[in-house]
Amino acid sequence: MQFEIILNVEMKIVRSRYMPPLRRHVAINFFGLLFVHPEVDINRRLVNHERIHTAQMRELLYIPFYIIYLIEWTIRLAMKDNAYRSISFEREAYRHESDFDYIDQRKHFAWVKYLRMKNKKTRKKRRKKNIKD
Ligand SMILES: [Zn+2]
Repeated sequence: MQFEIILNVEMKIVRSRYMPPLRRHVAINFFGLLFVHPEVDINRRLVNHERIHTAQMRELLYIPFYIIYLIEWTIRLAMKDNAYRSISFEREAYRHESDFDYIDQRKHFAWVKYLRMKNKKTRKKRRKKNIKD
C-alpha cells in the first residue's frame, strides 16, 4: 500500500509519497482532502492552515477556488514578490494559521481583502509615512 489514510477530527488526511507531486510542497488540499508526504510533521498549524483553505473552497463551491487560485498565481508570477505567498488565499491562511479560533470566527469571503493588500515593503513604507490602507 502506497498511502495511509488518517481520519482526523478536523480534516481527512492521506499520507502519500506521490501527492503533492512536487517534493518542495509538503501538502496539497484537494477538495477538502489533505494529501501529505509521509515524512512531514502534521501539526496543528498545518491543519489549521488547510482548514482555512477548505473554508475558502466551500464558499466558492470548490472549482472556482482552483480557477481563481491559478489565475492569481499566474498574474503574481509577473510581480516581484513570491507568487505563491502573495496569493490572497495563501495570505489569509498564513496570516491566521496560528490562530486556532480563527476558523470559527472567520467571515465568509475573508480572503477578498487580501486581493488588494500591498506587499510588506510597500506597507512598511506607507506605515512610515503614516498612510492608512
Ligand atoms: Zn496554503
